Amino acid sequence: MATDYTRYARQLIFPGIGKEGQEKLLKARVVLVGCGADGSAIADRLVRAGVGHLTLIDRDFIELNNLQRQALYDEDDLRANLPKAVAAEHKLRRINSQVEVVGVVADLNAENAEDLLAGADLVMDGADNFEVRYIINDVCVKHGIPWVYCGVVASYGMTMTIIPHQTPCLRCLFPDAPPPGATPTCDTAGIANPIVTVVAGIAAAEGLKLLVGSGEHNRGVIHVDLWENTFDTFDGGPPRVDCPTCGQGDYEFLERPSGAQAVSLCGRDAVQIRVPGAQRLALAAVAERLRGVGQVTAVNDYLLRFKAGEIEITLFADARAIVKGTSDEAVARSLYSKYVGV
Ligand SMILES: [Zn+2]
Repeated sequence: MATDYTRYARQLIFPGIGKEGQEKLLKARVVLVGCGADGSAIADRLVRAGVGHLTLIDRDFIELNNLQRQALYDEDDLRANLPKAVAAEHKLRRINSQVEVVGVVADLNAENAEDLLAGADLVMDGADNFEVRYIINDVCVKHGIPWVYCGVVASYGMTMTIIPHQTPCLRCLFPDAPPPGATPTCDTAGIANPIVTVVAGIAAAEGLKLLVGSGEHNRGVIHVDLWENTFDTFDGGPPRVDCPTCGQGDYEFLERPSGAQAVSLCGRDAVQIRVPGAQRLALAAVAERLRGVGQVTAVNDYLLRFKAGEIEITLFADARAIVKGTSDEAVARSLYSKYVGV
């Protein structure tokens, strides 16, 4: 399909992008990891700006409390019981049918990260946990892909632009990943929604500048707090020679054995269960079997939702599940084997 440049008229007359920049955007391949609040805002900006190809990776489904801040989703998506990656793909295609948008329902981890991210011109972070950001950092430094960190909670947020070997990487400034549960999340500390558009807007601008090759980059950390009304910029200095990742080429987050198969999702009273190497499930057939032992409340091509007492299990086609109603990993694992039995 020939590109209709009329759509981009206001970018073509903006000197920071122009015709040449627009052509670079149209050829760009971007991967966005996580399509919640930040991810929605970033994807919306990039798709309207006309990136050529956008892959969205998200492991989750839409819940009512997401609509307060996750701007790609609405009540119809909630009723349709769609995974975020699928609902986001549909919405973004309606916004700009010239962009090739691909939603991937998956949990980015050490085993699949290189397959999912390699080949991108830019990786954008819309993730909700630190473990995945250290995996992104390893892949991006290893493959020389620029990436933009973005995180918000409560009334504050932070963004960092990583151009491998030119600016500090995530581990240059934050050598160790905080242990799970050690940092506040939207589920534990809440969030005032305007911080999302502010910080994701800065991150999206960084992404566009990287793709177009113009403008001044954030070479450290930008931190904004909308309740304290503080806007701070920290210069990260040069990359650290003793950084394990970009200084020494030790990609230890990719080499670690894949994390636990059951991981409590902080603040959500839920546990994610992964089954590495599992075959894809025929969800309709599983639903038939489960109808005898509980209440199947949703089933479609992407997920199956099942209630047994206070426990709700959302099972994805890749055999991954989110068990809601417990934060005890052992309990969740045993419920999974009892009902899904993989
Ligand atoms: Zn580094």
